[in-house]
Amino acid sequence: MSRYDLLFEPVKIGPVTAPNRFYAVPHATGHGWSQPNGAIALRATKAQGGWGVVAAQMQEISADSDLASHPMDRIWDDTDTAAHVAQVQAIKSHGALAAIELAHGGMRSRNLTTGLPVRGPSHLPILRPELPIQARAMNKDDIKNFRQSHLAAAGRAIAAGYDILYVYAAHDLSLLSHFLSRRTNHRTDQYGGSLGNRLRLLREVLEDTLELANKNNRAVALRFSVAEPDSAIGLRQDGEGREVVEALAELPDLWDVNISGWPQDSATSRFTEEGYQLSFTDFVKSVTTKPVVGVGRFTSPDLMVSMVKNGQLDLIGAARPSIADPFLPEKIKQDRLEDIRECIGCNICVSMDGYGVPLRCTQNPTIAEEWRRNWHPEHIPPSSNKQSHLIIGAGPAGLECAWTLLRAGHKVTIADAADFAGGRVTREAALPGLNTWTRVRDYRVAQIQKSNLAELYLSSEMTVDNLCEFDADHIVIATGSHWRGDGIGSCSMQKIDFNTDTVLSPDDIMNGHIFDQQNTDIVVYDDDHFYMASVIAEKLAGLGHNITYVTPASTVASWTDYTLEQSRIIQRMNELAINIKVNTALEVSGEFKSTLTGQPITIDHTALIMVGAKSPDDTLFLAASADPRLKNVHIAGDCQSPGIIQAAVLSGHTCARQILSGSSAPLPFKRESSIVIRQDQRP
Ligand code: ADP
Ligand code: SF4
Repeated sequence: MSRYDLLFEPVKIGPVTAPNRFYAVPHATGHGWSQPNGAIALRATKAQGGWGVVAAQMQEISADSDLASHPMDRIWDDTDTAAHVAQVQAIKSHGALAAIELAHGGMRSRNLTTGLPVRGPSHLPILRPELPIQARAMNKDDIKNFRQSHLAAAGRAIAAGYDILYVYAAHDLSLLSHFLSRRTNHRTDQYGGSLGNRLRLLREVLEDTLELANKNNRAVALRFSVAEPDSAIGLRQDGEGREVVEALAELPDLWDVNISGWPQDSATSRFTEEGYQLSFTDFVKSVTTKPVVGVGRFTSPDLMVSMVKNGQLDLIGAARPSIADPFLPEKIKQDRLEDIRECIGCNICVSMDGYGVPLRCTQNPTIAEEWRRNWHPEHIPPSSNKQSHLIIGAGPAGLECAWTLLRAGHKVTIADAADFAGGRVTREAALPGLNTWTRVRDYRVAQIQKSNLAELYLSSEMTVDNLCEFDADHIVIATGSHWRGDGIGSCSMQKIDFNTDTVLSPDDIMNGHIFDQQNTDIVVYDDDHFYMASVIAEKLAGLGHNITYVTPASTVASWTDYTLEQSRIIQRMNELAINIKVNTALEVSGEFKSTLTGQPITIDHTALIMVGAKSPDDTLFLAASADPRLKNVHIAGDCQSPGIIQAAVLSGHTCARQILSGSSAPLPFKRESSIVIRQDQRP
């Protein structure tokens, strides 16, 4: 008996049974309908890793729910069926149930490809991303057509073999949530006004889908956001959100519950703890006897057990934890808890969705590479030709490179000048809100330390002569980078002639620079636009200094819009009384100017933290590559090109795969192809 056996009990979901309580909920993978092989392989890998249910992402049910250019999945008509059949087979071949999230984007649709009118409950502008387009209020015929198209899509999903069909009313991303919400439903007929009227369409679609699905021995899940904390007049878990659950309590075979909008649902670890959604969602179990699945960045098996025992959830839902570790259930089953690669809650995966490309993950460099590079998250093909490698730098790149080579059975020595492992991760994780990021280091160091083929030396600064003394087959230089602090950043390609006495970089702050004066007036200048400037500002404000955050961009930490953190960052700055000045650039002369008017701006300060670009620490690499005594010198991570931690991990992993390939030829990279119809064969 293991204390986690409870997690491996089967759960009946209407007419089907999930083999365990691990439920990989729908999430975008960025492949969309045009790259099905990548999406199928990603989901099949989760099924192989032990997730009892694996769900496909939001599916456009019809051509008038066209979300392009966003790469959504489609189940418009029979043309899409072959990909769905292949997906179901791949998921089910590992014993998991396959689920599909049928959806109409309503006022989120753009119909840019199809040119059809966007439909919604009312004549209103379409929802973000903003386009100068309005949705047309649906009349009775439109509603009838929508119900028919949802039913037709359900029929196709059943024919493809899906076990669980979703009705989607969540995240403000679905026509059904737009009808439900007072914000977007301004109707005065029987589909508007009272809550009973606003949820009429959801009830009808649920009943339509249930009738067809249950007749065919398939289950129906209702994905519903019980609260919309972002919205002043949104649903509340103790208000209309609860009333919806009460009204439909026993209808769906499964409740899949969360909070909306997406920044709430996919909150980062900087602002929320594991299980952050429970206080919103855990009432649902008390209202229905049907099984309930919920999410909240769950990676701790003990929390999972307690949630089931406490009657908060029946199934452990996960999007990000299943991306960071597709084998999380299997590792719990085998009592290999120390092998779990826990999600760090950084939302780099989410950011890729903003670009419409297959996702990336800081913890799991193999995600979305299952098909195109044939990479597996757990298995590195063993090498017959066992070699020994020397890796300089125990940051995320060096550690990932080492761990990948070790898994292939190679001998690895890692040396780092610092007296700690983890490089930038260790240093940055000490800043406010970033502590969870230590998981990038901890997972890899724990794995490396278990291997008898590995040696890790700290406080060991290496020179080219040291490298020569080692008779390594390959040398990987992963020596990282440092913040320049000279004024060069995203918006300024020239150094700045600062006219402030004290100019520091984020490295100085991380190295523990102390300001002599209490209440020092400090400008944190953000020409990086991700998290660092806001975190430094937060740290210094926490120490009691007067902080002015200045950026040439038109918003605070503009790139954090991609990680869904921006509004929380602004809120935190306001709580800490940090002065915010946007559209304010540092000129080469060291003066501040408005980017809008060109007028000089005066900001009183005695110190300035320059958060701009970084310089690679590649001196050792350049010297080693030029030294005739050394062969097979490789470069990885920030030392190659400074970037985000995810890029360093991927770089370290790729470097190891390149070494393991035994060749300098580019690693295979398959591309999905469209079928081209020759001129003479066109209809
Ligand atoms: P990355 O993100 O690419 O992994 P990091 O900056 O996190 O880069 O890590 C680089 C590591 O390399 C740091 O821990 C640093 O101490 C180490 N390092 C840099 N130069 C040397 C050197 N000459 N010898 C040994 N370690 C070094
Ligand atoms: Fe978690 Fe970050 Fe990976 Fe997303 S990218 S799954 S948040 S570790």
